[in-house]
Amino acid sequence: MKKREFLKYCSLLAGAMISGKSIAAIAEPVKTITPMKRKSTTMKLRFIPYELKLKHVFTLATSSRTTTPVVLTEIEYDGKKGFGEASMPPYLGESYDTATKFLSQVNLEQFKDPFLIEDIVAYLDGIQPGNYAAKASVDIALHDLVGKLIGKPWFRLWGLDPGKTPFTSFTIGIDTPEVVRQKVAEAEPYKILKVKLGLGNDREMIETIRSVSDKPICVDVNQGWKDRNYALEMANWLKENNVAFLEQPMPKTMIDDIAWLTENSPIPVVADEALQTIDDLLPMKGVYSAINIKLMKCGGMNAAYKMATLAREMGMKVMIGCMTETSCAISAAAQLSPLAHWADLDGNLLISNDCYEGVTVIDGRITLNERPGIGITEKIKMFRD
Ligand code: MG
Repeated sequence: MKKREFLKYCSLLAGAMISGKSIAAIAEPVKTITPMKRKSTTMKLRFIPYELKLKHVFTLATSSRTTTPVVLTEIEYDGKKGFGEASMPPYLGESYDTATKFLSQVNLEQFKDPFLIEDIVAYLDGIQPGNYAAKASVDIALHDLVGKLIGKPWFRLWGLDPGKTPFTSFTIGIDTPEVVRQKVAEAEPYKILKVKLGLGNDREMIETIRSVSDKPICVDVNQGWKDRNYALEMANWLKENNVAFLEQPMPKTMIDDIAWLTENSPIPVVADEALQTIDDLLPMKGVYSAINIKLMKCGGMNAAYKMATLAREMGMKVMIGCMTETSCAISAAAQLSPLAHWADLDGNLLISNDCYEGVTVIDGRITLNERPGIGITEKIKMFRD
């Protein structure tokens, strides 16, 4: 008998003497895992369109709007319900029609086990390319359901520290100085302001804010600048004005110019429109210094978690962002926020008809709760029993 086997035998023998059981009983191998028996073995997906009403007209370098179409989802299984959401700002190319068409093709009844998240996400990807918001609506509902079945929120299941959530910024769209000052006043509870630039009044926007607030600012140009020398001049000027980072300063196709700007900029350059899924991430190294992950761009919580962990391994900073969304998708994204250096999760605060309650912002910081799944409750019942 070899030494290692002898020691194992001795320890089993000692255990048997204490417990009074035979060695064979103690050495019995662990039983094979069998699927858990549940009352119902069918997942049922339902979805309904909903129109989010914005408190203010929202103006970016590329568009302006007062509403955002979303599709709300629900997956029911074993008496539990998971909720999800697809938010579809028009510039991303999804709509009620595309989401409804995609979700009509999703058949979750073929999966007997909702814990098979990897398989279910791969199945969604195989139905049709694109449709990331529609895919996210199923992915989020599935995560909410699984968390409820386990009885834990996702930040716990991922092993993340709720004490490490970042401050969230409050977005101020491009507007007249009077409206900008009013929005800065509205943003009183927030520690960081996010400012949209790129319509030609860049310095005026920042100077207006600086006339009433000295809070840190982050800047999102939404691809609005076309000249790298102007972009660098602005980056230096913004640094002097206590701006933390510069998001998507130039069109995503100007890769060499952006890489040059990143190399020379005194503040981090963040990829947003340039980055959709995890496939886009590896080529970002050396071009940008940070990425903005949004559930609606990448297809949901499963993909977002993988992107956040990979980006950190690549030495990049991580921002978790959002579209105009209810507290459903915002709370889903917030589960990941302890992995992020910055958060821009104010989409639910910009609307007047939120139908869920979820994460809150306390002293400017994302505050997670211990509710299972994505941590939400229904404020308005959207799905009939
Ligand atoms: Mg952006």
